[in-house]
Amino acid sequence: MRKIAILGSTGSIGTQTLDIVREQGDLQVTAMAAGRNIDLFEQQIREFMPRNVAVWDEKDALELKSRVADLGIRVHAGMEGLIEIAADPDSEILVTAIVGMMGLRPTFAAIQSGKNIALANKETLVTAGHLIMPMAKEYDVSILPVDSEHSAIFQSLNGESVNKIDKILLTASGGPFRGKTREELEHVTLEDALRHPNWSMGQKITIDSSTLVNKGLEVMEAKWLFGVEPEQIQVVVQPQSVIHSMVQFEDGSIIAQLGTPDMRLPIQYALYYPRRRPLSGSRIDFSTLGQLTFEAPDMKTFRGLALAYDAMRIGGNVPTIYNAANEAAVALFLQKKISYLQITEIIEDCMQSCKKLEAPGLEEILATEQEVRERVESRW
Ligand code: NDP
Repeated sequence: MRKIAILGSTGSIGTQTLDIVREQGDLQVTAMAAGRNIDLFEQQIREFMPRNVAVWDEKDALELKSRVADLGIRVHAGMEGLIEIAADPDSEILVTAIVGMMGLRPTFAAIQSGKNIALANKETLVTAGHLIMPMAKEYDVSILPVDSEHSAIFQSLNGESVNKIDKILLTASGGPFRGKTREELEHVTLEDALRHPNWSMGQKITIDSSTLVNKGLEVMEAKWLFGVEPEQIQVVVQPQSVIHSMVQFEDGSIIAQLGTPDMRLPIQYALYYPRRRPLSGSRIDFSTLGQLTFEAPDMKTFRGLALAYDAMRIGGNVPTIYNAANEAAVALFLQKKISYLQITEIIEDCMQSCKKLEAPGLEEILATEQEVRERVESRW
């Protein structure tokens, strides 16, 4: 039995992780955390029987405690609760399927407790890659990417440790607004932005995919995961989402990973690395696939991607400013308080105005997030 803990078990990645646990039969969930959806969380607890669970809100924790009193399990709350789950003494691997910078402290705690990390929460490396990667080395833990693009790169690098990466070709679907002009984007509604052509995901990442901010976050994540320079990461739009990313080596060879768009594959790969296991689901049929098409991303219309490259090149706490501004702006867009194009305007404003730091520690990263949040809340 491989023992796992999950942060964010009720979300898109969390529920798909539990699908794999159900399907494989040799994974045991020892600890789990969720946010507000305690009805689903209770069902999951009864099905998977972890010994240690957490929800965000103190009141929800009390309610949950009384609901699962018959099971004799420990119920925690708040950030302390997330850290308890992340550092659960029984688990070997932590799946970070929580959304946002909320995932930072628990991921630090898990690494310091010697857990391998199946990393979905992309905000972790974007904001603290300079701290996480050396810490993972120090504690001898693996950071196993769950994001489909990074998993594809990770898989393409199998057996290539003696070879230098020339370029990472990070693929993008282009999102629901590919080909649109800025004028056309002025009238985009929340409902339009939540309609992703190929992937079914949580709300925040779906909006991020439509603005190409998600691709920007992935570019920054790739820099840390694979130790490459910004110039070595090229975004390639591949609208069918069949090629999940590629690596070009010094001799010009390109190795790619392909598959149908199904997040269970990269999640399972991270959980069993380096072994592959059978997985149910559809397969690519090249006789009916037809065309795979490629284009360059439109960084003028989708400023979010260009700003991510700027943030990555400047470094320090600027990726945190970029990420925190986006988190705050997307939250406002989800509440229909700002227009679609204001999301990237807010990111740009914060990148220009907020205090810059060269090598922020964890507390400074969290203070930067706070400064950005206060700025966005006071102005929009
Ligand atoms: P969802 O919004 O679907 O799920 C988020 C999860 O986090 C839910 O379980 C939610 O609980 C939980 N959560 C939110 N706030 C808190 C909190 N304060 N305390 C405890 N739990 C909390 O997100 P996704 O699954 O889509 O994404 C998760 C992460 O994975 C993100 O960082 C995203 O960028 C990344 N990712 C996602 C992909 C996808 O296909 N979905 C692909 C690649 C990366 P509840 O619902 O109970 O409130």
